[in-house]
Amino acid sequence: MEFLQAAQRAALHVSVSQVKLYTRCPKLYEMRHVLGAKPEHRSANLVLGTAVHTALAAYYLALKDGVVLADEEVLEAARQSLEESVKQEPPVLLEEGETVADMQAAAEKLVRAFLAGVERPDEVLAVEAPFYCDVVDPDTGEIIEEQLTGYLDAVVRCGDDIVVLEHKTAARAWSQDQLDFDLQVGLYLAATGAAKVRLQVMTKTRVPKLLVHDLVRSEREQREAVVIVCRVLQAIRAGAFWPAPGWACKTCEYRRQCRG
Ligand code: SF4
Repeated sequence: MEFLQAAQRAALHVSVSQVKLYTRCPKLYEMRHVLGAKPEHRSANLVLGTAVHTALAAYYLALKDGVVLADEEVLEAARQSLEESVKQEPPVLLEEGETVADMQAAAEKLVRAFLAGVERPDEVLAVEAPFYCDVVDPDTGEIIEEQLTGYLDAVVRCGDDIVVLEHKTAARAWSQDQLDFDLQVGLYLAATGAAKVRLQVMTKTRVPKLLVHDLVRSEREQREAVVIVCRVLQAIRAGAFWPAPGWACKTCEYRRQCRG
């Protein structure tokens, strides 16, 4: 791919998740990454998602060595992650009436949904793999100062295809618009040259489900994703940080500092 070139050099970095965060709420980006403001709490969804990610990483790491973990071992990885996480500061923001035991039960259900529905790849190539890319501005042809970085949940081989696995926990199934336009997918494909991104979404519905989506992006769509990175970085350099109130404010770790 001509607009992202794999390389690691001493440079300023911006991650795919930082770019996504900026597009969601520039003020939140500023508080977290420019001002380094002290967060008021951590969202329960984030802590739960991290526990599930940890368990799935354990599953794929073992599979990389040819070992299929017992369900109980995968569940234990989630339990431990959550147990450790809730002891840390800042405190976890629980819903009214919600307890840590509820979070443990939710994590267990999500991991069980994954284990019941997952299809094993032919080979696991990497787990929680970082990448670093030079970014060539598609409009000017110049390599920008910042390198783009990210963490791939796993990279696997399915038949002849190299596939990037991306895990999400979500309140409900992703909409078609989310599947069609998610920025992360275009950037991961541009960065890795993989055939597709396999999005494995675990839904926090009454009966949690694993929903699997194989996503591709055309070269034009990958180029558009790189343009977004370049323009976001220009906006950050220019100090353009405005609050974008919306659904995320409810659990935002800077809610009081931002909204009063
Ligand atoms: S409270 Fe809302 S508008 Fe303010 S930083 Fe957080 S998400 Fe953005």
